[in-house]
Amino acid sequence: MERRIIANRQSASARALLRWSKSHLKEQMAFIRTLVGHESPSFDRSAANALGEVLADVLAQAGGRVRRHRNAKFAAHIQADFRGARGAAPILLLGHFDTVWELGTLRAMPFRESQGRLWGPGVLDMKTGIAQAVFALRALGELAEAEGARESFPRPVTILLVADEEVGSESSRALTERLAKQSAAVLVCEPSFGLDGRLKTARKGVMDYTVRVTGRAAHSGLDFEKGQSAVLELARQLLVIEKFTDLKRGVTVCPGVVRGGGESPNVVPAEAMMLVDVRIPRLAQAARMERKFRSLRPFNRACRLEVSGGMNRPPLERTASVVRLFRAAQGVARELGFELGEAAVGGGSDGNFTAALGVPTLDGLGAVGEGAHSTHESVLISEIPRRTALLARLLESL
Ligand SMILES: [Zn+2]
Repeated sequence: MERRIIANRQSASARALLRWSKSHLKEQMAFIRTLVGHESPSFDRSAANALGEVLADVLAQAGGRVRRHRNAKFAAHIQADFRGARGAAPILLLGHFDTVWELGTLRAMPFRESQGRLWGPGVLDMKTGIAQAVFALRALGELAEAEGARESFPRPVTILLVADEEVGSESSRALTERLAKQSAAVLVCEPSFGLDGRLKTARKGVMDYTVRVTGRAAHSGLDFEKGQSAVLELARQLLVIEKFTDLKRGVTVCPGVVRGGGESPNVVPAEAMMLVDVRIPRLAQAARMERKFRSLRPFNRACRLEVSGGMNRPPLERTASVVRLFRAAQGVARELGFELGEAAVGGGSDGNFTAALGVPTLDGLGAVGEGAHSTHESVLISEIPRRTALLARLLESL
């Protein structure tokens, strides 16, 4: 009996959050338009800072205590802390406001609404996700105020929006990890997976390697025998490295960039290099991959081989604590009247860092859409209210 009363009260809150989100959809779409209208390439600090200020304002208006984390290379990362009624560990909402799109993209790819979608650079990855997080915080705040509650949230909530995720998070990683360690759980507002909006309960880890070969240059006509071709050596290494791929175990090795030689084919090339992207589903696979790269030896002893690199983002593994969070999200989705699926994906996010620390992490809580990093980048408008309510209800119930 008592359980049913609690369940009813829970769904009443879920319904109220969904109603609030639906009635604020127009306002939320206008906010998304503002976010997309502020182009924010990772390497354009002043443009990205302008967007950071928009976010700082909105989070302060929602009742957050805002901090700007300035750094040497990128726009300031924006943090906002919200108090909770219980003195428990906070929930960390994680996102990034930089995009892969350079300044001026909006001219060719303007923000628009058509076919039930919003379109534009960064709209999926991840400006709509940011808007959903901001409106989830507002929904909880306004509903609590209407009920006369002293605090908006049961637990404290910290939101961190970084400015360098698309280029590896070098300046924000330590901050993300520090906040995650203090938190009970991390909810990542990156896009969901597929048009059915599955959450991401596993992400592969990313390793980067640079393989550099130095040979000896010589005139191809006059001194051919004196030359030691770095390109030939690199080509042979390429065939070795390519075999490191193990699709059965989900390990992929992609030598995506290869460079060698100079301007002219009449010189035996002395320099060659490649950049290799490696994806691994499990952290335990990293040491093995590292050994394989470190044990590469030149076929041609007259060439020098240098290998550098290693782990960039550790994998987000589908651990018991990830599954527990996902089940909680599924329960909330059912309260809101829909089924939530899960997916394992190859791409990394800042959630990889927090999960590797053992902090329960759930990713893909952002927008539903398709075409991240491509010209048909878009989000489904119809999904925005319930995804906003899902996030709000999760903040309330964890
Ligand atoms: Zn992203």
